[in-house]
Amino acid sequence: MKKFSEPIYVTRPVLPDRAEFGKSIDKIFESQWLTNMGAFHQALEGELKGFLGVPHVSLFNNGAIALLVALKALSLPKNSEVITTPFTFAATPHVVAWNGLRPVFADIDRETFTLDPEAVRRAITPNTSAILGVHVFGFPCHVDALEAIAKEHGLQVVYDGAHAFSTKIGDRSIGRWGALTMLSFHATKLFNSLEGGALLYDDPALEQRIKDLRNFGIRGEFEVSDIGINGKMNEVQAAFGLLNLRQVAHEQALRAEIHALYRRELATIPGLTVPNFPSGVSNSYQYFPILVKRTSRMSRDVVYDRLREANVWTRKYFYPLCSTYVPYRELPSSAAENLPVANSIADEVLCLPFYGHLGLEAAGEIASMIREVMS
Ligand SMILES: *Cc1c(COP(=O)(O)O)cnc(C)c1O
Repeated sequence: MKKFSEPIYVTRPVLPDRAEFGKSIDKIFESQWLTNMGAFHQALEGELKGFLGVPHVSLFNNGAIALLVALKALSLPKNSEVITTPFTFAATPHVVAWNGLRPVFADIDRETFTLDPEAVRRAITPNTSAILGVHVFGFPCHVDALEAIAKEHGLQVVYDGAHAFSTKIGDRSIGRWGALTMLSFHATKLFNSLEGGALLYDDPALEQRIKDLRNFGIRGEFEVSDIGINGKMNEVQAAFGLLNLRQVAHEQALRAEIHALYRRELATIPGLTVPNFPSGVSNSYQYFPILVKRTSRMSRDVVYDRLREANVWTRKYFYPLCSTYVPYRELPSSAAENLPVANSIADEVLCLPFYGHLGLEAAGEIASMIREVMS
């Protein structure tokens, strides 16, 4: 098999123009305002509101702290249960536990890898207070079904939308569902501000609480009103984000071409499944996952190893499942029998290199390599 001379990673960060970023840094040096809701912070918050089409955006230093604050802002009863997915990044169950709440894992569905509403329904107990869904790989959760269940049982709904930047269902932003939606602006995400994150929400009553929690609960010079934390995005992050926001559409267009090529080349390979994006949903183009079926000649792990030998660094997102992590593996809901679909997807999934600069030629070569390994 051919080998790339340089490693091809699963993603590469989008970077702003260096000279433009230099001008922003000059302004920060002139103003000497480095953090605490400065001019760049205000500008980014405002621009994101328009870009995403949501009424409220609160910026954070990273997505994990944003999600931590989202759950805190809802004042869920101590020790109550939050139903979530095991097929996600570690931050999702961790913020539940850090809030003194109990994560309960429910299974996912085969098509979108998001929470299976029927599994969520079965996981509800008198102690359940919330559902924390993840729009994994940008596939929206079954928002209407989840929210109907939540309404029936008096539960809050929060979404981890770290992979769903700019995703829309119909013409409505993904941030319009649930009480709160978290976005991550980490370097590896479609839109990045070095590190960063945001909460999107509709209810104006949440705004003051979120601002308090984000800044130590400080209301004024002589008043601390709440047990807050430091979740503030600094001016360098915000300036970087403002410039990168101008590049999102272009980056998505480049990724859309790679997506189409991968689909065309891979969908016909026996033993591979390329998940379909639901109709009426805009793809964020955050990741390109495939499934190497367990029944096929080659296992996912062999494909991963053979590609690595060719200098192609795919990622097994999200293997291992969060339910197998040391702090969670003893939970009753972590039992493999409770999570058959998640366990099977975790053994089959592989995320391919996917970023604008990859280019169509390299993407075509990677697809050929996969065909060769699978035949
Ligand atoms: C990246 C990510 C996070 C955490 O975001 P950070 O900005 O890195 O803190 C949370 N959940 C998911 C699903 C993620 O991919």
